Amino acid sequence: MKSLYVRLSVVFLVLIVAMTIVIGWSSIRSANRFVDETEQKLNMDLAASLAADFQPFLIDSIDTEAIQKQIEYFIGINPKIDIYLLGNTGMIKALFVPSGREPIMRAMDTEPLDRFLRGDKYPIWGQDPLSETGMKPFSVAPLEIMGEQGCYLYIVLGSDQFDTTSAMIQDSYILKSLVLNVGLVLLFTMVVGLILFGVITKRIQKIVDGVQSFGRGDYSNRIQLTGADEIASLARTVDTMADTIEDNIKRLESTDSLRRELVANISHDLRSPLSSVRGHLETILMKADDLTREQILSYVETGLAGTDRLNRLVEALFELSKLDANQVTLNPEPFSVGDLIQDVVHQFQPKAKSAGVELVFSLEEDPSLAFGDIGLVERALTNLVENAIKYTPKGGQVRVESKWGPGSVELKIADSGRGISDTDLPFIFDRFYQVDKSRNPISGGTGLGLAITKKIIELHNSTLSVSSKLNVGTSFSFLLPVSSPVVGNAY
Ligand code: ADP
Repeated sequence: MKSLYVRLSVVFLVLIVAMTIVIGWSSIRSANRFVDETEQKLNMDLAASLAADFQPFLIDSIDTEAIQKQIEYFIGINPKIDIYLLGNTGMIKALFVPSGREPIMRAMDTEPLDRFLRGDKYPIWGQDPLSETGMKPFSVAPLEIMGEQGCYLYIVLGSDQFDTTSAMIQDSYILKSLVLNVGLVLLFTMVVGLILFGVITKRIQKIVDGVQSFGRGDYSNRIQLTGADEIASLARTVDTMADTIEDNIKRLESTDSLRRELVANISHDLRSPLSSVRGHLETILMKADDLTREQILSYVETGLAGTDRLNRLVEALFELSKLDANQVTLNPEPFSVGDLIQDVVHQFQPKAKSAGVELVFSLEEDPSLAFGDIGLVERALTNLVENAIKYTPKGGQVRVESKWGPGSVELKIADSGRGISDTDLPFIFDRFYQVDKSRNPISGGTGLGLAITKKIIELHNSTLSVSSKLNVGTSFSFLLPVSSPVVGNAY
């Protein structure tokens, strides 16, 4: 009873049965009415013609014998009629009933009779004195009985009418075929309806099965219902939803594995400098008496370098996590790109010199100012210049440039260093990705610098681009929006 199919079918069947009853009842009623109307129209003048024949036998008394004779003569024409002689108040004065039955009333309502005489619309039903409730078609004519004016000759037609509907249907070919046809149509409707409900609920069941199997964890399962109706459209929506959920699950899984990889990388990168610091400190502790002052200083320096590296790593991680969590709020302001580049280049000049790398800049003359968070842009530029120096061998060159375009300024950091292979290039912005897989601590890198730089540039609604050729050089560039041109002091 819980299934939609059963519910729909039950409601449908109840409706069909109700419809059958209503249609049957109204058809039989119409048929009855039609028969009565026809009979009344056909016998419209019957009472009038009989009244003329009877009138001579009603002068002094009611000559029932003579009247009976007249009726018997007449009987050949219409044998099944009941004839009543009524007083002007409706009182039954005489009756001629072939069945010989006694009337159950002594007087009857004359209102329908008067309507008939006034020529009202047919059919008009009048009381049948032989039955308590039955209303029958009739014919009536005025009569004068023993000097009493306004009497009636009342003829009940169809006195042989069927008392039960089934008897009437059985007797009528038209009614029988009507009942049969209506029955067949309803049966056909019922069968078609049940099949249709079956088809519809089967399609809904397919959606339910699909959703349930998805719910059980079969994420690849799709309903794939064909058609252009609402059920097919619902199935397609569910399938699209399943696609999205499956994609999200895959993304979550890959994020989870990335997270695990990150944790592994972080622990590895923290462990090596830590054990280096610990190793050097232990050596000093154990061999303090045997070591020269120079040796001790050298151990301390190496240990300090380890703590520097640890510090850098922790700082970088902290910075990246803040950027990731959108905890860094941008404080954009107009600033001079030329001044920033000169500052950074100046700051890295000693490092470049000791690496044997020429560090130069070229600035396009322009009065415009860039618009951005100067602190963060400096951080990005520093990372890129530091990398360029780090990955450029002795004798190479690192060049920092600015180029003004319409509405933006391009900052470019190009080196003639070792370059990056095409296989490594797509991954260099991934956190902890280092081309040198041995993670040589001497390079001092954390593998986080470019990830941080990329985030900073993205915060400025810009993109960090890279182009590189192995053993030829690498160039990083990004655009910053231009602030309003300087007019007097105003930006
Ligand atoms: P790292 O701290 O190792 O430098 P980054 O995220 O800054 O980490 O850089 C990721 C990797 O990209 C580096 O390990 C290096 O192999 C490569 N890389 C970055 N900049 C350059 C460059 N200018 N020339 C060649 N390789 C570079």
